[in-house]
Amino acid sequence: EVVVVGSCMTDLVSLTTRLPKAGETILGQKFFVGFGGKGANQCVQSARLGAKTSLICKVGSDSFGNDYVANLKKNGISTAFVGQTTDAATGTASIIVNSEGQNVIVIVPGANLLLNFEDLKRASDVICKAKVVVCQLEITPAVSLEALKMARASGVKTLFNPAPALADLDPQFYTYSDIFCCNETEAEILTGIPVGNLEDAEKVGRMLLGRGCKLVIVTLGAEGCMMISGDEGIPKHVPAGKVRAVDTTGAGDSFVGALAFYLAYYPKLSMEEMIRKSNCVASVSVQAPGTQSSYPYRKDLPQDLF
Ligand code: ADP
Repeated sequence: EVVVVGSCMTDLVSLTTRLPKAGETILGQKFFVGFGGKGANQCVQSARLGAKTSLICKVGSDSFGNDYVANLKKNGISTAFVGQTTDAATGTASIIVNSEGQNVIVIVPGANLLLNFEDLKRASDVICKAKVVVCQLEITPAVSLEALKMARASGVKTLFNPAPALADLDPQFYTYSDIFCCNETEAEILTGIPVGNLEDAEKVGRMLLGRGCKLVIVTLGAEGCMMISGDEGIPKHVPAGKVRAVDTTGAGDSFVGALAFYLAYYPKLSMEEMIRKSNCVASVSVQAPGTQSSYPYRKDLPQDLF
């Protein structure tokens, strides 16, 4: 089983011709509600590939929260450890996108920040019996770290995605990560080194590996990934296929969710092969609009991925 400890966010998206100024009211052309949040996104991608999944998270006792639980169920995810609280609203991302694709975004984490150690304790059985535990940073960092520690103590593989990045990340996150997977922006915030090419990616990969994780993956958008493992110590570029990208939002979460699936269900594959397959899954997600709505199902993918 893949267990994700992380966030749920309701995306409230308005499409406008231009972004409003302070104090201004403008008319938009379209509005839609989407399901997002890095934790849920990753869990949904894993589930759509065929993984048995549990999401440990917290939403509000409100209509967004109820709708989110229904969305998780629809994706076949176990909601036994999805808490609902009256103390905060379901996390939201209010997004305005203009006709040039520029956006302004306000995230209110709400209930996500109320996920606590007690919730983890209640879920300790599923965490300790998982094949892989996946965490990010859209919940209280100490709670993410505790989940990684619980997993490690039971010999469960840990996959950590330091997103959104924190410049002062607790160094324990490195030592409790079997796989530390970040994108270029996150890598720059963590190391101070901007990643503009493969050489930079090798450099930051080496640097992050030196902080104590077993394997580092830096995702590079259309360029695929740079991986470096503590066993070999030599960075390896794993390219992505050439596709026509229409919307890359959530590509990183599709990648992480796919990687969790391969780690749990194809543990004998080489890391390079798992990354190559995860690149394929994520590259399909960029060819359709939206976040979870763009994530492919197993039946829609080339069968040699399984
Ligand atoms: P994030 O969404 O966090 O910014 P990236 O942009 O690095 O993450 O993308 C994550 C993964 O998605 C990449 O490693 C790759 O597998 C896939 N991907 C992203 N953009 C493209 C693209 N334009 N073409 C092909 N694959 C892509």
